[in-house]
Amino acid sequence: MSNFIPFTRPSFNQETIDAVSEVLRSGWVTSGPKLAEFEATLSQYFGNRPVRCFANGTATIKIALQVAGIGVGDEVITTPISWVATSNVILSVGAKPVFVDIDPITRNIDLNKIPSAITSKTRVILPVYLAGLPVDMDLLYALAKKYHLRVIEDAAQAFGSQWNGNRIGRIGDLVSFSFQANKNLTTVEGGCLVLNNAKEARLAEKFRLQGLTRQGMDGMDVDVLGGKDNLTDVNAAIGLEQLKQLPSYQTRRAQLARLYFDVLHAALKMAGLDSLKLELPVEDFANTNWHMFQVVLPLEQLNVARSQVMTELKDLGIGVGVHYPAITGFTLYKNLDYKTSDTPIAERIGRSILTLPLFPAMADEDIGRIAKGLVGILQKYRKIERS
Ligand SMILES: *Cc1c(COP(=O)(O)O)cnc(C)c1O
Repeated sequence: MSNFIPFTRPSFNQETIDAVSEVLRSGWVTSGPKLAEFEATLSQYFGNRPVRCFANGTATIKIALQVAGIGVGDEVITTPISWVATSNVILSVGAKPVFVDIDPITRNIDLNKIPSAITSKTRVILPVYLAGLPVDMDLLYALAKKYHLRVIEDAAQAFGSQWNGNRIGRIGDLVSFSFQANKNLTTVEGGCLVLNNAKEARLAEKFRLQGLTRQGMDGMDVDVLGGKDNLTDVNAAIGLEQLKQLPSYQTRRAQLARLYFDVLHAALKMAGLDSLKLELPVEDFANTNWHMFQVVLPLEQLNVARSQVMTELKDLGIGVGVHYPAITGFTLYKNLDYKTSDTPIAERIGRSILTLPLFPAMADEDIGRIAKGLVGILQKYRKIERS
């Protein structure tokens, strides 16, 4: 279908294509001068804190855990509503994810529920900023201080987000971003970690290349188990160009989000669906980067399953996504004795959440078409309410 609107699509301009060509022609294509330039530029962007890049966001969080010395016997507090990478990396370093329920409004980990999940084994709080909306950073770091915990922020979706005028990544402990193709800033695949000091940065470099401590004329040595998680110059060249485009992307995303609120409110009202409890995102234009625009369907008021809503939207040429079902419902996690019923809000939202299309190249008219399509489906399947 030619006028199909995908739920997201990256934008690359001619300068980006030229920058990639230049790297390919240069004779040095893997990690080299472009990576160094990208890391230095990112460091500036994050208030001169050290930054190291990795092959993807998953490796980035894993290396953050390794830099913090997390392993067997340690517990890491996190959210069940995230891309499964978040908790998979906790398992992969041998630690135990401890899932705390989410706040139904922000859809992020409920910070107030963290204290009762803390044990003598807890070492880290690992929040996720779903759709780019950060948690209350003052409260997060007050908790970390009070209970002597490290914080690893999975800010994969929050590049360009803010907290009280401070960019996410400029403040805090270890802050991890992803540059995967769907993210607000992409290198196709990639990620970066904002660290506290040069010592941590050296450790991160070691973990990203086989645990190598030295290499050169004086021989070679390896003292920890590292991986092969470096970002290439091809990816770095894309990232440098994306950074230049980011402000215009951000403005456009915010405009489209504003339009979603206005058009959805109007369409619901016009359809006589004022009493339908369709949950919209928090209207926090100061802090979020509008990575996604997600609604939570009022399934108890509808005679339809989410999958059918998605199918009918697709038939209207509208691509939607689910970000995310509760991680604790996956077979791997069920087999580890996790239960979705332990985090009932995450269970409900994971079952009912829907990501509507949002990306910089969308047209204003697209939002109207999507709102009309969604509201039409809600109207069709609305349960008759008895009073
Ligand atoms: C994208 C994402 C990741 C993983 O990033 P990759 O680059 O795909 O490995 C981790 N956590 C969250 C919340 C994400 O959205």
